[in-house]
Amino acid sequence: MNLILFGPPAAGKGTQAKRLVETRKMVQLSTGDMLRAAIASGSELGKRVSGIMERGELVSDAIVVELIEQRLPEAEAAGGAIFDGFPRTLAQAEALDRMLEHRGSRIDLVVRLKVDDDALMQRVAGRFAESGRPDDNPDSFKVRLDAYNTQTAPLLPYYRDHRKLVEVDGMGSIETVASAIDKALDAPRA
Ligand code: ADP
Repeated sequence: MNLILFGPPAAGKGTQAKRLVETRKMVQLSTGDMLRAAIASGSELGKRVSGIMERGELVSDAIVVELIEQRLPEAEAAGGAIFDGFPRTLAQAEALDRMLEHRGSRIDLVVRLKVDDDALMQRVAGRFAESGRPDDNPDSFKVRLDAYNTQTAPLLPYYRDHRKLVEVDGMGSIETVASAIDKALDAPRA
């Protein structure tokens, strides 16, 4: 079972992914977490991406596709992956389909968390005050939201056409959103 958690920055993808790791023993593949780990380790890759991320821009497709590819065997062994923050461009989505197909696997479900822009801005303002994540500052967040709207949201028709897309209201409590995701995961699929 391979799941994409899809939605704008700060929609709650990471929170829901972590819960599914606990309840379903799936593996969370978050390109954002992988890139932050690279920065924290001081690696060459980390140095290349830190400015881009801080500004809220997308890093190159080649970088994130490679990060994901390295982790696919582990996810497969666990019985499935939760893709969190990946894919973010059509090129990434197509690369993911190719990599999975090559391994005799596929994306089973794409859950889109719908949260409106005002709510996202409010959440991030709170998070920035608390944790000070550099790209949560208002200017970078606006860039991230624009990147989502121009480069990532256009993937929705791609997954809708492939009949993989389920939409979930992401404005409710963590528990309400979690049960909606559970329902989508447990519904019979073609
Ligand atoms: P959020 O979902 O809250 O925006 P992430 O942790 O997913 O946060 O991503 C943080 C940053 O990491 C992005 O703004 C971008 O710079 C980079 N990044 C993460 N995933 C990708 C990706 N799939 N493609 C390009 N850039 C990415």
